[in-house]
Amino acid sequence: MGDRIFLSSPHMSDEGYEMEYVKEAFDTNWIAPLGENVNEFENELTTKVGSNAAAALSSGTAAIHLALRAAGVGEGDIVFCPTLTFSATANPIIYQNAIPVFIDSDYITWNMCPKALEEAFKKYPEVKAVIVVHLYGLSADMDKIVELCKKHDVILIEDAAESLGTYYKGKHTGTFGDYGIFSFNGNKIITTSGGGMLVSDNEERIDKARFWATQSRDTARHYQHSELGFNYRMSNVVAGIGRGQLKVLDQRVKKKRYIFECYKRELGGLNGVQFMPSNKWDESNYWLSCLTLSEEVRPLDMMKALENENIEARPIWKPMHMQPFFEKYDFVGTDVSEKLFENGVCLPSDTKMTEGDLKRVVEIIKGLW
Ligand SMILES: *Cc1c(COP(=O)(O)O)cnc(C)c1O
Repeated sequence: MGDRIFLSSPHMSDEGYEMEYVKEAFDTNWIAPLGENVNEFENELTTKVGSNAAAALSSGTAAIHLALRAAGVGEGDIVFCPTLTFSATANPIIYQNAIPVFIDSDYITWNMCPKALEEAFKKYPEVKAVIVVHLYGLSADMDKIVELCKKHDVILIEDAAESLGTYYKGKHTGTFGDYGIFSFNGNKIITTSGGGMLVSDNEERIDKARFWATQSRDTARHYQHSELGFNYRMSNVVAGIGRGQLKVLDQRVKKKRYIFECYKRELGGLNGVQFMPSNKWDESNYWLSCLTLSEEVRPLDMMKALENENIEARPIWKPMHMQPFFEKYDFVGTDVSEKLFENGVCLPSDTKMTEGDLKRVVEIIKGLW
C-alpha cells in the first residue's frame, strides 16, 4: 500500500519562514503573552485581505463568538446561519444563548441561498445578525446577501474559516460583512497548529474584542473587571507560525487550484460526476476539491475504495438542521443542502500531493466506473 494521502494536512514552508519567527520569539523570550509576532501577524493579515483591523485569537470559533458579542447578540436573539457548514459556525450562537435559524444552500454557490434568506427575513423580521459561510473556499453570493442585510439593517458576519485566499469580484472574502473570521486550524489552507482571526473595518470593535479576549481587564493596577472576560488570545509562538505561513498562502492556493483542475480534467467526464461550482465572480482558494455523484457510483463506494488504498476522503458537511443537537431549531429552505450532503464527496486536496499521488487517486476513482 502507498503512503497515506491526506484530505488537507499542515504544510510548512520549504524556506523555513515559520521557524525563523518562532526562533525570534524564543530568543527574545517573548513566548507569551502576545508580543511582536502577534502584532505583525495581525498587520500582515489585514494587509493581505484588505480590512482595517484584526485581532489574533485562539481559534476561528473564538472569533465567531466575539463577532457575535461585538454584534450585540445576546439571550433570545435570532441569528441566521447556513445549515450546510461545520458545527463551529453554529455553536457560538448557543454560547450566547441566542437562537439559530438555519438557511438552505443553493446549487449555484453551495452556500447560503439568497432566496431562502429573503424568506427567513419575512418570517423573522426581528433577526439580530446573519452569519454567512464561504464553504470549501467557494464564495457565497455576496452582492445579494449584503444587499438583503443592508435592506433589513442587520449585522453580517462572514465565516471565512475555509476561504482565506478566496476573492469575490476581486475583493477578499471576510471583508464584505461587519465582521469576518479566519481559522488557522490544522486542516485549513494555512495553519498555526490552531488559531483564528477576527477582522473588521471598525477598529473600535476590534479593540473591544481584544479586551474581551484578555479576560476583560480594565485599565487599573489591580485586577479589575466590569465585564465578562474570555481567554481567547493567540500566543506569540503560534503567531510566528502564522507569519511564516502567510508568506506561502499564494503558493498554496496555486497548488490547490492545480489539484482541482487535474481532478476536473480527469474525472469530469465520468457518468454522474459533477464538480463543485466555478462561478465567474469567484476566485476560489480551492481549499477542498469536492464533487457530487448520481446513482451509478455512490459516495460511500468512492470513500471506501480510497480508504482501502490509504487515501483520505470525506462526505460533505452534514447539515446542521439534521444534527441531533440542532434539529429542534427552525430551518428555511428545501432539500438542496440535504442532497449535497447525500451525494457529495471531498477528495484529497493536500498541497503536499505529488503527481504520482494525484494519479493514484484518479486511477482508483476511474476504476469505479
Ligand atoms: C474550521 C472552521 C471553523 C472553526 O475554526 P477553528 O479555528 O477550528 O475554531 C469555523 N467554521 C468553518 C466553516 C470551519 O471550517
